[in-house]
Amino acid sequence: MGNIFTKSVVTFFMCVGTMFSLCGDRPLHDHYFLPYKLPENLFPVKSSITLTDFIPPELRNLAYGIYPESPEYNTARLIYNKRFVYFPKAIFVPTTPQEVQYLVGVLKQYNLPFAIQSGGHCIEPGSLSSYYVISLKNFNSIIPDITTGQVYIGAGAKIETVLQTLGLIDYAIPTGTCPSVGIAGLTLGGGLGLLGRPYGLTCDSVQSITFVNADAEIIEVSATNYPDLFWALRGGGNGSYGIALGFTFNMHYIPVVTYYELIWNYDPQLIPDIMIAWQKWTKNLPEIISSDLAIRHPNYLAANPEETPPFTIRIFGLKVSSEPFTEWEEAFQCLHPDVFIRSGSYLEMSKFWARESDLPFLKYKSKILMKPLNLSAIMDITRFFIQLERGNPSDLIYFEFERLGGQVPNNHTAFFPRRAFGWWAQAYFWPEQEQSEEILALSRRFYASIPKEVSRYCYANLVDYDLGKRYLKDYYGNHVDRLIRIKRKYDPTNLFHWKQSIPLRKGGCRGESSS
Ligand SMILES: Cc1cc2nc3c(=O)[nH]c(=O)nc-3n(C[C@H](O)[C@H](O)[C@H](O)COP(=O)(O)OP(=O)(O)OC[C@H]3O[C@@H](n4cnc5c(N)ncnc54)[C@H](O)[C@@H]3O)c2cc1C
Repeated sequence: MGNIFTKSVVTFFMCVGTMFSLCGDRPLHDHYFLPYKLPENLFPVKSSITLTDFIPPELRNLAYGIYPESPEYNTARLIYNKRFVYFPKAIFVPTTPQEVQYLVGVLKQYNLPFAIQSGGHCIEPGSLSSYYVISLKNFNSIIPDITTGQVYIGAGAKIETVLQTLGLIDYAIPTGTCPSVGIAGLTLGGGLGLLGRPYGLTCDSVQSITFVNADAEIIEVSATNYPDLFWALRGGGNGSYGIALGFTFNMHYIPVVTYYELIWNYDPQLIPDIMIAWQKWTKNLPEIISSDLAIRHPNYLAANPEETPPFTIRIFGLKVSSEPFTEWEEAFQCLHPDVFIRSGSYLEMSKFWARESDLPFLKYKSKILMKPLNLSAIMDITRFFIQLERGNPSDLIYFEFERLGGQVPNNHTAFFPRRAFGWWAQAYFWPEQEQSEEILALSRRFYASIPKEVSRYCYANLVDYDLGKRYLKDYYGNHVDRLIRIKRKYDPTNLFHWKQSIPLRKGGCRGESSS
């Protein structure tokens, strides 16, 4: 840790001066997000079988159906994570609620498995199926109403369009940081991001949900209509109870925010001091300030030297206020970060954090941290990054820690657990399918080595099939029984199921629609 002090020191004033002189052209430091051309082998042709033979007549030749012989089939069957190769019999892309009702009715009548898909960002194949897929991507309208302070957002809208549409009128709802994630999956599983501390999770801003239930009826679910279902759908609702067509959210008026970054050149030896200081600092952080600590391994960049990163350890976040952001100084000045601070509209500032990787293969693992990490866990993380330096030249591996708290309120939705210190996302991206086994093994080895005391809970939206049967307890803690009771009431035949959906009874995961 001593070598922190030997690192090049850029003073705050020099740094801010430099940053501001770059004006809007400041490098976005996401150099590892290179444009990526998908490998040809993602598009194998499945030729000899006439898959449509197995499709009931009611589902054939639908104008909104994409069948194996359709030209767009080979791209429509993929999701963001290209690790999974599925050949559904049909992908339905309806445009009206009645078409969704029709599909649910027919699929139920024939007892056919299907997956629900909105933004297609499920980390595992939870929104894929070898049978049928209902894609909500055409349900993408965003209708804000300043007079009521509410916005209706269709299930298939992406975060980036929500950000832009609301940003133009200085409003926002809390979302995650990846722009192409779908609003439905994000909201139904919780929704963690930089507005969480001031405004709660994405699901906390939901006022009502337009929903197709297991009887193929359209219902409006809210605190007064179906309150138990409303509770479950906000944090425990992905693919378990029915199909969300759209959400009405309370918007938040945010005319100005301050974005900040504290940046260090990559050196894993710095991790302990930075993490300890960050955890201590965030303990009493005002709720208008959000904060993430991201440690990104630069190997992928080393393999692409022209993209040399200026840094890969950083603390960043927002202060929802026009007041100067000075809170960092006492805690971090002694660690000599480069500092970037900028104020502007939420939309303008989003260009600094709303970024994503183009690499096609990925794995996430997560922990919800009930308390700050202890020194031993921090040293394990440090060793992990030190070891990475010796191999994996073309992977993008990063750990991101986000402080929760603030306005993230207690138990009023199914998201669990509320009173957590933070969440920890462990992200692995890589360019070639052949690397998958090695990197998956690496992610599993590290995850298995995390001591139980760190936390048993993880985030339902970072779906992880490695959890096996533990997933219910690990995602939903002591909300499991309540979620199961609600499942029995609203979907007693388990029409809506996938590998990690809410089952009808404990240990009774029917799942596997997506296989
Ligand atoms: C690169 C990346 C970054 C991410 N960053 C964040 C982040 O910052 N914060 C955060 O909270 N999360 C984050 N996530 C996780 C993300 O929130 C979840 O993966 C989310 O479920 C994706 O939603 P989707 O609609 O895009 O996915 P989909 O793959 O379409 O669906 C995900 C799940 O939701 C179900 N589902 C989808 N639509 C509906 C619907 N209309 N009705 C009922 N069930 C439905 C599916 O069946 C599936 O089980 C990230 C994921 C990725 C891949």
